[in-house]
Amino acid sequence: MATASVENGVASQNGQTFAQSAKVVFVLGGPGSGKGTQCASIVEQFAFTHLSAGDLLRAEISSGSENGLMIQNMIKEGKIVPSEVTVKLLQNAMERSGNDKFLIDGFPRNEENRAAFELVTGITPEFILFFDCPEEEMERRLLGRNQGRVDDNIETIRKRFKVFIESSLPVISYYDAIGKVRKIDAARTVEEVFASVCPLFAPYLQTSV
Ligand code: UDP
Ligand code: MG
Repeated sequence: MATASVENGVASQNGQTFAQSAKVVFVLGGPGSGKGTQCASIVEQFAFTHLSAGDLLRAEISSGSENGLMIQNMIKEGKIVPSEVTVKLLQNAMERSGNDKFLIDGFPRNEENRAAFELVTGITPEFILFFDCPEEEMERRLLGRNQGRVDDNIETIRKRFKVFIESSLPVISYYDAIGKVRKIDAARTVEEVFASVCPLFAPYLQTSV
């Protein structure tokens, strides 16, 4: 088999398995809450690898994969792609990165995503970075950004908000109950938000090998 996988427990330099040494932070928040923007700054300052689940799915569509059409249709409707697909993409991207510190942006979006990731990779997240933002502000940002995304139109945006509230907020509650959520007020400038984010990552500066 050409593809080794994370759950096979490939030993890293210090004798730990990948799952034991990997540091994963889930970056969650509604559509337009600033996840991608903040992740770019975290990558620069703290040497994490940024994996946007949405970007990986869009790349999968562009690559002409057999799942492309199904993914495209789900994104257009603001629906959540089956965990099997997304977890595999994340796992492959982690393996290829050569890094052991990851920001997983826009995932897990529902309970099934969360359970599948933990089961398949054996990784427990360090913490959940939650960008809390009022819906009116997120809507304003999404309608203003115009990056040519098929889902940045008002009908799909409304569906994405609904899915966020119904499916993704329960994941945040799950992690909150075990003390893993770090909530950030995201309705401020990029600089102000980043100033609140930085202290959470300072401990991880020392851990790169
Ligand atoms: N998506 C998904 N599973 C994921 C991440 C994204 O199904 O784990 C799909 C879903 O349809 C979502 C879309 O991709 O609405 C866009 O996700 P992205 O994270 O890029 O949007 P954002 O929340 O950053 O605006
Ligand atoms: Mg995004």
